Amino acid sequence: MSETKATLPTIVRFAPSPTGRIHIGNARTALFNQLFAWQFDGRFVLRFDDTDVERSREEYAASIVTDLAWLGIKPDVVVRQSQRVALYEAAAARLRATGRLYPCYETPDELDRRRKRQQARGLPPVYDRAALQLTNADRAKFEAEGRRPHWRFMLDPGEVAWDDMVRGHCHADAGSLSDPVLVREDGSYLYTLPSVVDDLDLGISHVIRGEDHVTNTAVQLQIFTALSDGRPAPRFGHHNLLTTASGEGLSKRSGALSLTSLRERGIEALAVCALAVLTGTSASVHPVASLAELGTLFDLSHVSRTSAKFDEAELEALSARTLHIMPLAELEGRLAALGIARGSTIDLEAFWLAVRGNLAQLSDALTWWHVVNGPITPLIEDPDLLAAAQASLPQGAFDARTWKTWTDGLKSSTGRKGKALYHPLRLALTGHESGPDLAALLPLIGPHKAAMRLAGKGG
Ligand code: GLU
Repeated sequence: MSETKATLPTIVRFAPSPTGRIHIGNARTALFNQLFAWQFDGRFVLRFDDTDVERSREEYAASIVTDLAWLGIKPDVVVRQSQRVALYEAAAARLRATGRLYPCYETPDELDRRRKRQQARGLPPVYDRAALQLTNADRAKFEAEGRRPHWRFMLDPGEVAWDDMVRGHCHADAGSLSDPVLVREDGSYLYTLPSVVDDLDLGISHVIRGEDHVTNTAVQLQIFTALSDGRPAPRFGHHNLLTTASGEGLSKRSGALSLTSLRERGIEALAVCALAVLTGTSASVHPVASLAELGTLFDLSHVSRTSAKFDEAELEALSARTLHIMPLAELEGRLAALGIARGSTIDLEAFWLAVRGNLAQLSDALTWWHVVNGPITPLIEDPDLLAAAQASLPQGAFDARTWKTWTDGLKSSTGRKGKALYHPLRLALTGHESGPDLAALLPLIGPHKAAMRLAGKGG
């Protein structure tokens, strides 16, 4: 990582608005923050941007917590903007007192007409600060007409620059921007101010978010300066956004590629993590066995600046390949929930290593658990071979070499080889046409059940 350890503690935040189910693109932002926090022994704040009471729903907040936990993210702190309005009021009061927040009475129609006039004259459609010319009498007149002010933040002219953790040196000319509205007519806050107030109050050291927010940064940096009493603003990193293979953006509203739907489809969380984090970076997308491993591959400065196209079709294969390398320790609890647990006569570690390479989904492990435990219905294809096989089953406990010793013997005694030898054995021992390596399955099935199955008896 190019980032050096700051003297201030590393505190990051993921700030979804609970207005829908989060998708794989949101997972990218959340994971970037979490992996970054882990790299610097930092803390992860989950902040619900729920000031929009109409659209925010408790059900979505709950699903976001569940989805993050599924990915392996456990926030250190959870805050809700709806419970922090007093802080925004205090900040707005401070800005009003210094004249940085000023009341405006234009209606949307008036603003629109003004913009059109500016454009007709070839001028940029920047708010002309006409409200600053209003006298007390003008304002009183508007108020008497029933108009309520919205409040704009007065930008300092000049260039705002920052060293973006992803995009490098960035700058914006504040003189070419309209003074942003921070407070609406009804007294509610747009996202811009509460976000800065919270970042300051919670000591956020790094703001890692999608590049759709890069246009907010110059304004937010000026608000930081106005409110921070000399404390440094966080460092910013704006990452590229995930798009579908055809280049479309992801939307929370459509529910497409929501984490909930991926989980319900049986996709492995680690596969989602690998795809979300590695797409659009200098690393190739490949399966990882743990989030810790993914953390070692993650480097914000290696995130590319162009959009990160990912192929949804890759997810299933990536999910299977993830299972194929996962150690038992990563999913023992989930196997237990399927009924695959220690305590049976089967060695769970050996079972997992034998079957994982054959799974498309974790629940497929149940098929093989039933095969090694029995009873199964053996399929009988070549009774003569099976009789010879049963008669020559090695004595004593089975181990990893048993299969080879046994089938080598059968090759010479019966003259059969290849599919003619192995296929009938597989059908009888497992009841399946194909499956995990029999050398690994046979010791799990054990001598007693193997003998029964070769004799065509359910065992
Ligand atoms: N609520 C904003 C969003 O979901 C957060 C933006 C930010 O991280 O500052 O896009």
